[in-house]
Amino acid sequence: MRYFIGNWKMFGVPKSINILNKINAFHIKDKNRKKYRVIVTPPYTLIESYSKYFKYKKISIGSQNCYQKEQFSSNTAAVSPYMLRSVGAKYTLIGHSDNRSEGDTDSMLKDKVKYALKNNLKVVFCIGENKSEKKNKRTLSVLKRQLTKVLEKKFNKNNIIVAYEPIWSIGTGKIPTAIELQKTTLHIKKVLKSIFKKNSPSVLYGGSVDGRNVEMFKEIKEIDGFLIGGASKSSKKFIDIIKNYYR
Ligand code: PEP
Repeated sequence: MRYFIGNWKMFGVPKSINILNKINAFHIKDKNRKKYRVIVTPPYTLIESYSKYFKYKKISIGSQNCYQKEQFSSNTAAVSPYMLRSVGAKYTLIGHSDNRSEGDTDSMLKDKVKYALKNNLKVVFCIGENKSEKKNKRTLSVLKRQLTKVLEKKFNKNNIIVAYEPIWSIGTGKIPTAIELQKTTLHIKKVLKSIFKKNSPSVLYGGSVDGRNVEMFKEIKEIDGFLIGGASKSSKKFIDIIKNYYR
């Protein structure tokens, strides 16, 4: 199974559902429809209405983050996994570099993963090195640390997807070379196998994916799908990614 996950970030109002309607209409008719899943993570404000609307349709709705407590607490503006599940979210991103840079630590991320799984949310756990770590050839050790500090054998690996998103690639138009990406993805899968003592969870790539460069990514069979930021805000760009991936 391949995944195409759209991360809307701070984008969208109720009428933006038209974008998802077009993607859903494409997915239903696509001859490759059984080979992939489409998930979109709109802002918190839209999760309930979009989840209701898409309940019996192809697209699944997730959140971009969750708070590291299970249910209710006195943390202003926080939204827990329990609250997200109660309005229909099925997935949540955890550890996006935007949130890591705002203070998410490994121990906070571990609690987020733990409580998200406990509340039946599937977790898309984001990892990635920054520009200076890449320059200093620390990519593989950084990724290993990010994975081993947070993920544990006791977590249900079937409900975890890992998204490799090099920070220097997010929103910049810069992407790793095919050789770099294959090496990195294999490394991530090896580390995941050592954590779970079984097959690795799915590993996605994220960072400036578009309809053109997906042609290169599709050659790397170890990549199980994509986390797509900018291009997920346009139905045409998002559909082009899927079309070109299966062409
Ligand atoms: C992201 O923020 O998760 C992302 C992958 O963004 P973009 O596709 O715009 O680089």
